Amino acid sequence: MPATGQRRTESLPHELSVTCMSCGRSFAGTSAISTCPECGGLLDADIDLERTLTPIAFDAPKDSIGAQSGVWRFRSLLPDIPDEHIVTRYEGNTPLYWDDRLTDYAGLANGRMGVKHEGHNPTGSFKDRGMTVAVSHARTIGARVIACASTGNTSASLASYAATAGMPAMVLIPDGKISAGKLGQTIAYGATVVQIAGDFDLALKLLRELTSEFDVYLANSVNPFRPEGQKTIVFEILANLNWKAPDVIALPGGNLGNTAAFGKALSEAYQVGLIDRLPRIATIQAEGASPFARYFESGFDHYEPMTPNTIATAINIGAPASVERARRAIQGTSGLVTAVTDDEILDAKAIIDRAGIGCEPASAASLAGIRKLVAAGEIPDDATVVGVLTGNVLKDTDAIVNYHLSNVDNEPRPLANRPIKVDATLDALKKVLDDAVLG
Ligand SMILES: *Cc1c(COP(=O)(O)O)cnc(C)c1O
Ligand SMILES: [Zn+2]
Repeated sequence: MPATGQRRTESLPHELSVTCMSCGRSFAGTSAISTCPECGGLLDADIDLERTLTPIAFDAPKDSIGAQSGVWRFRSLLPDIPDEHIVTRYEGNTPLYWDDRLTDYAGLANGRMGVKHEGHNPTGSFKDRGMTVAVSHARTIGARVIACASTGNTSASLASYAATAGMPAMVLIPDGKISAGKLGQTIAYGATVVQIAGDFDLALKLLRELTSEFDVYLANSVNPFRPEGQKTIVFEILANLNWKAPDVIALPGGNLGNTAAFGKALSEAYQVGLIDRLPRIATIQAEGASPFARYFESGFDHYEPMTPNTIATAINIGAPASVERARRAIQGTSGLVTAVTDDEILDAKAIIDRAGIGCEPASAASLAGIRKLVAAGEIPDDATVVGVLTGNVLKDTDAIVNYHLSNVDNEPRPLANRPIKVDATLDALKKVLDDAVLG
């Protein structure tokens, strides 16, 4: 059955509408539409910005969905989804941690580094924020099947939210390139898992073809409703800081849906008067998957996708779908883009883990990138920076064990913490206490 109802509207009588970022045409947001039917460009959900908002707008009444969900709390800046269609697992409301060890590692001698821990979401990653909006939208428009291509976290999140809604989900994953934890979650929540002999970029391309031909709701971040939920990370950071904007908000960049969403969130918060200045967005890629960082280095003059190869599987993407939307976000906030090596990511992760916070590898790109940008003088050392930790430490335990137990050039890694094997005697334990614990 072909996708239906993609009609152009001149006057936007619908409460849900979307606008093409390339040609500026608007369409009703009441179908499973993820690219402009006229020019193929990506679409943005329309939000009413012709008004002033104060933080009171987000004081959700007791017993309302917004009182439980850190996404739906921000409904005044989200697409208008009726209560009865909202599919929520009470996502968001994540902690913002300040830690001197992270500030030191970042090199912010006179500033401070906080981390927004999105690994505290229901399925352990920030993807839940967009997923609650996408699945709720899918239900609003009566979609029957919902699908995504994923490096792991999107699939885990979709599988959970589809199960919550009682809808069948189909997930395409790059064969062998997703962590056991993420695959395990997706299987456990009951989605149909399809392993593709190819990388993420190929999986997404195939799925976009499938969903344009058949009546299947596409839940990837090219879908204009997913980034709407991701915006609430920024709103929540600003609320955490009493609506006083930090200097920089840093996040890892893969498919770049979040970079785009962060830009949209900041622009909206500014336009309705919630903040009086824009923080800079800093997007950090892995060097092995850094087409956006290279694009930035060329002054956004020359863009070329690449074959991706990084240990940070969540950002192992060589042809990011939201590259132009992300460019707009970086340019609109005088933002920065850089790339860090896998070793830099792993060392930064070890620092975050040791502080008792913990995150998955891709998340640590935020800290590694800030450290690099501060060292290069791109970010002043008195800046207030908030980095987003996108996923939970348990998402990729293989990466942890490898880091701590394997050698590089016959040497342990700088922060390796190796389990100690001893005889089952009190003497042996005393020796460990002296040498390793107190020593
Ligand atoms: C999806 C994901 C990212 C990358 O987000 P994009 O919007 O694709 O750039 C980073 N970290 C984690 C843990 C993710 O799951
Ligand atoms: Zn268009």
